[in-house]
Amino acid sequence: MLLELDNVSLSYGRIQALHGISLTVGEGEVVALIGANGAGKSTTMRAISGLRPLSHGAIRFDGQDISRLRADLRVIRGVAQSPEGRGIFPGMTVRENLEMGAYTRRNRSEIDEDLDRVFGLFPRLKEREKQSGGTMSGGEQQMLAVGRALMTRPKLLLLDEPSMGLAPMLIQQIFDIIVEINQQGTTILLVEQNAQQALSRAHRAYVLETGRIVKEGTGTELLHDPAVKDAYLGVA
Ligand code: ATP
Repeated sequence: MLLELDNVSLSYGRIQALHGISLTVGEGEVVALIGANGAGKSTTMRAISGLRPLSHGAIRFDGQDISRLRADLRVIRGVAQSPEGRGIFPGMTVRENLEMGAYTRRNRSEIDEDLDRVFGLFPRLKEREKQSGGTMSGGEQQMLAVGRALMTRPKLLLLDEPSMGLAPMLIQQIFDIIVEINQQGTTILLVEQNAQQALSRAHRAYVLETGRIVKEGTGTELLHDPAVKDAYLGVA
């Protein structure tokens, strides 16, 4: 397994957001995490990327315990997060934002290769290379955030709500790109409110309810699960 969460709990002060979560992501997989608002999806991502400390449990990545490793060192090991709400640098150009993603790297020719890869995946970013990030549309900023995460050349890409706020046509497009990134060899853990899209694109998925995993299966199994349909797919 590339990533393994073993009985992970996490609290914000007295509020316990995760209650003993266990999940795995295998090399080459797209795994989706679905759940209602406040279920703990973003918190799970923060636990993995190291933005919040665990109160219990362990996280293993690529065979090593990273539970107490600093967030920046996790990036160097190969964990990259494209955060919910994008978090790009508004005053920097598109290209500078992408270059920031590669700031820990020194090999210029590899960085240029990855820039080409990102511009290949997102031609819009290439067209807008010199535009400042803050003046990009919501959808474009979303693409930029994903592109910047890819610039760390991650083994595992954590995507928090990549379809949030996008027009229907762009939603299709971003999911197509996610599949393409995966086919190019990057393992993906995807948090999504858009359960229909996430389940139809993911190899496997977990359902999170109030900080606990209540169900897991292949994307197809969960798409056809009556309780999942009822709660998350808007059809009984
Ligand atoms: P959404 O889809 O609405 O973003 P989510 O599944 O990502 O929801 P989280 O953001 O992980 O949910 O929140 C899980 C729980 O932890 C919620 O009850 C939330 O109020 C609480 N929480 C999240 N961040 C903090 C914080 N910084 N301080 C206190 N409580 C927090």
